[in-house]
Amino acid sequence: MRAAVIGAGPAGFYTADQLLGAGFEVDLFDALPTPFGLVRSGVAPDHPKIKSVTRVYEKTAKKPGFRFFGGVKLGEDISRAELLERYHAVVYAFGTMDDNRLGIPGEDRPGSYAATRFVAWYNGHPEAVDEEFDLSAQRAVVIGNGNVAIDLARMLLLDPEELAATDCADHAVRELAEAQVQEVIILGRRGPAQAAFTNPELRELGEMTGVDVQVDPAEVEGVVPEGEPTQIRNVEILKGYAARPSGSAGRRISLKFLRSPLEILGDGDDGPVTGIRLAINRLEDGRAVPTGDEEVIGCGLVLRSIGYRGRQIDDIPFDERRALIRNEGGRVHQEDGSPCSGEYAVGWIKRGPSGVIGTNKKDAADTVAKVVEDREAGRLDGERPDAEDTAEWLSSAAPDAVTWEGWQAIDEYERSAGEPHGRPRVKLVRLTDLMAAGRGSRVS
Ligand code: NAP
Repeated sequence: MRAAVIGAGPAGFYTADQLLGAGFEVDLFDALPTPFGLVRSGVAPDHPKIKSVTRVYEKTAKKPGFRFFGGVKLGEDISRAELLERYHAVVYAFGTMDDNRLGIPGEDRPGSYAATRFVAWYNGHPEAVDEEFDLSAQRAVVIGNGNVAIDLARMLLLDPEELAATDCADHAVRELAEAQVQEVIILGRRGPAQAAFTNPELRELGEMTGVDVQVDPAEVEGVVPEGEPTQIRNVEILKGYAARPSGSAGRRISLKFLRSPLEILGDGDDGPVTGIRLAINRLEDGRAVPTGDEEVIGCGLVLRSIGYRGRQIDDIPFDERRALIRNEGGRVHQEDGSPCSGEYAVGWIKRGPSGVIGTNKKDAADTVAKVVEDREAGRLDGERPDAEDTAEWLSSAAPDAVTWEGWQAIDEYERSAGEPHGRPRVKLVRLTDLMAAGRGSRVS
């Protein structure tokens, strides 16, 4: 039997691997000419160890029965109906690409940006290359208490020489080196014990060269560490920061809690950011409740890092409220609860944007178990075109599709460009260049 997996990020690769193990032939698709999803476009450039997980995915790609088609967009080049005609099983693994909105006045002023866009920009995602970020402010505010907020704070203050040695997109290396930011304030709407940071990430802030980390002792003093071990450890780390003597590094990261954004301030309706108005909260049963007090923090840059949202593609059943594919345990469902035969979801578009890369391995196992169950029950039976016929269809539907060999050529090109500079790679960031390198042609 033949399966299509849509999205070549971690969830897509773990699913492809397990489907191959269960005897399926697998075609793995991605909208970009490059594989690896958030490992390439999300993980911060100064975290190369996390990225080494791609070696596992490269092993999957070597297995018989595996094919990759990059640069093929579901909903544009190919449709849901076409996939269902050609594959016994179709698994959606396309992640959550939009940002959650705060829904407050001033959210879209110049100088207020969504984390999703900033992350895509510094990681060289082809659709974010031409975006512009004004980094001339001395003080930046990052809203949200997750690991993405921590990535953003680090990226804004990382020593330019350290950044230049990474695979950060060249345009971002240049602009971040010129950035004027001296202070980043990370804001949580709840308390230190409710933050979604993981321990190594929170600890890493305190190890940055030339950066002091500040926490107001009054904010952590009475906090009793309770809950999950990660939260308990977070509170201990934050207490450690609060006890640090005030440093003289010049640049600093301050963590502030129990503050919800009410308005992003600036002149008129569309003047640049000059500050942020906040409600001061207290905790009630773990929830943030406004005390009625307010505070204004002056700043010229706001990054909104409050989580990602899924987007509906084609007519795949979609739960608007959760912004995820409508599914039960990975089987795609209609609104009336009936399963859509042969369609499955995995990863963030199935369960929401949570967990680390490895979380997707178990998630893929759960979805693949449903595929195998349906196959055993005869629910996937029926004639489908073979691999050759499918390749022919694709060569007319998406003539520029990049194969695995094409990706290997891109990879080789990027690595060789990085080598003389001691960098893991220099990323190609334009679609035309990626396609050209994927065909072994000259890159402009
Ligand atoms: P996240 O962990 O879900 O954090 C989102 C944060 O936004 C939470 O602190 C949440 O607070 C806050 N928030 C939500 N709505 C808000 C609002 N209206 N106003 C103020 N604050 C609001 O999401 P993320 O940081 O985007 O990360 C996504 C996933 O990727 C996470 O599982 C994360 O661990 C993972 N990740 C891992 C790494 C790493 O391992 N190095 C790096 C980056 C990302 P509440 O808790 O109060 O809702």
